[in-house]
Amino acid sequence: MQADIERALTNQEFELYLQFYVDCGSHRIVGAEALSRWQHPEKGLLTPGRFIPMMEREGKISKLDYYSLEKVCSFLEELVGLGIDTFFISCNFSRDTFAAAAFVDNCKRIIGQYQFPRELLVFEITESVSSKNISQLQQNTVALKEYGVKLALDDFGEGFTSFYDLQQYPIDIIKLDKSLIDNMGTERGDAILKAMIRVGHELGVTILAEGVETDDQVETITRLQCDLLQGFRFCYPLPRWEAQKKISQLFLTARTDDKSFSPSAP
Ligand code: C2E
Ligand code: CA
Ligand code: CA
Repeated sequence: MQADIERALTNQEFELYLQFYVDCGSHRIVGAEALSRWQHPEKGLLTPGRFIPMMEREGKISKLDYYSLEKVCSFLEELVGLGIDTFFISCNFSRDTFAAAAFVDNCKRIIGQYQFPRELLVFEITESVSSKNISQLQQNTVALKEYGVKLALDDFGEGFTSFYDLQQYPIDIIKLDKSLIDNMGTERGDAILKAMIRVGHELGVTILAEGVETDDQVETITRLQCDLLQGFRFCYPLPRWEAQKKISQLFLTARTDDKSFSPSAP
């Protein structure tokens, strides 16, 4: 398996997929999350559940994370070259990658090779409480913010990712975990969510709901003042070329025809 991964990285078998974020009020596409897929020569297209836990065990995940970051930077540069300079992309990093001493320098070396406004790049952080090296992680988040990129707290409300992290890190975006969205609709559940969103807003943080699948969820979360939505209700993750085509259509034609800006349901 080790050799399989090394070959995949060398042969660029990992591909950049993007799942759009839409604005809660207008349903316009405003950005996307970068998600890796492995185009395996024998097994076909593999989703992260099939290879990320294994890469973490084998100590190979950092290589994939830096490889994905580079793909995202190249995509942002391409969009900016087309005149699309407001579309932002968030990138996943495993905790071990994020908490490494050389993390910030490694990222700066990659990002520095591409031309795009740094605030278009968002770094997602997950579950820091169980992390081994919290002070290095904290230092890294501050250094990245100073460098000009944005930070998102992933899977908020699930496992360890919680209010503790909001105090610790200079967060720009909270991504509410799908489990919170799935439990909406009860009086208590909605009250908790509403309070979470209010606290986030008081801290000047953008609130994004993950895993939105139904019209009812869209209606409730919009009423609770969420800012951004992500989920199969709007679109599935798309390969880079398809996402690029869609973004160009929407952003470039939107200048003359504003109505064509929002995504259609899958
Ligand atoms: P995540 O960061 O929580 O990413 C969102 C996952 O939820 C994606 O799964 C996405 O396809 C899925 N999703 C989005 N909307 C919906 C929905 O409405 N319903 C349901 N049921 N699912 C939805 P995916 O692509 O399989 O990714 C799984 C995880 O793999 C991601 O979870 C992320 O943590 C990780 N991942 C992906 N690429 C990378 C990478 O390059 N590096 C690292 N370290 N992790 C990655
Ligand atoms: Ca994520
Ligand atoms: Ca997530």
